Amino acid sequence: MKLYAPSTIKDIKARHDFQLSRSLGQNFLTDKNIIDKIVEAPEIGPHDLVIEIGPGIGVLTAEAARRAAKVVAVEIDRKLIPILQETLAEFDNIEILNQDILKTDLHKILEQNREYKGQKIEGVKIIGNLPYYITTPIIMKILEEGVPADSITIMMQKEVADRLKAPPGSRTYGAISAAVAYYCRVDHVANVPKEVFIPQPKVDSAVLKLSLRKEKPLELANEKLFFQCIKAGFGQRRKTLLNSLTGVGGYTKEQVESALSEAGIDSKRRAETLGIEEFGKVANALQRKI
Ligand code: SAM
Repeated sequence: MKLYAPSTIKDIKARHDFQLSRSLGQNFLTDKNIIDKIVEAPEIGPHDLVIEIGPGIGVLTAEAARRAAKVVAVEIDRKLIPILQETLAEFDNIEILNQDILKTDLHKILEQNREYKGQKIEGVKIIGNLPYYITTPIIMKILEEGVPADSITIMMQKEVADRLKAPPGSRTYGAISAAVAYYCRVDHVANVPKEVFIPQPKVDSAVLKLSLRKEKPLELANEKLFFQCIKAGFGQRRKTLLNSLTGVGGYTKEQVESALSEAGIDSKRRAETLGIEEFGKVANALQRKI
């Protein structure tokens, strides 16, 4: 049985009286090439743990389970659980959790899976064809909580992918691009046309691989202040840095002006022109103003 075949999805829907939910972003993949690209990009090895977000009927789960020591698949839709138990019955290395990924304690999953069948787990790869509404929250959750994964390989709306990998100064560069650049190296894996999903979404998609940095790319005196600067800078995109940063962390206009000058950054520039190194310099200079 080809799990990804449109006829399989039709058959499962009929036998299980299952209705696809638009609000849960249920657009199932039907293209083996794309499925292969998502599971090949993270270079899953036999001693790796894979965490999958939103397995649906299990097309990615099955391919990941062939390569990994173990797969933990987190699916919010209770009605998909008996379906997954059926479609993935041949595997003994898959654990399905009926949970909301946004409320899932990922550290706990890692703690509970340090070993599998007496073998030490070596790498942690997160994969998924995400419902679009959770793309940014789930990425930020993983990054901000410091989940020690090697990579996150996920399908998302093309427009969101463009934002995540945007360089400073480009039209789509924003707070999320800067935050992701701080935590990860971003690689484009594939563009995905809407025709390969059932049902078809309105927009095209893309797969990105975010490789988490083992070491932070900047020396920051105060990481929180760095993110406050990014948030404030992009919160008021049209304003100059001097204006958008005034008030951040309680700093006065004079302190911001002096910090920008120490950091060697023109106070009339806008946040959208700054890369993470420059944001780092500004935040470190501000920190010295305490
Ligand atoms: N992986 C399957 C595929 O590629 O065909 C399904 C992908 S579908 C775009 C997204 C899946 O995520 C659905 O199965 C949906 O029920 C599930 N989902 C939606 N919100 C979720 C959440 N907050 N936590 C876990 N799973 C969720």
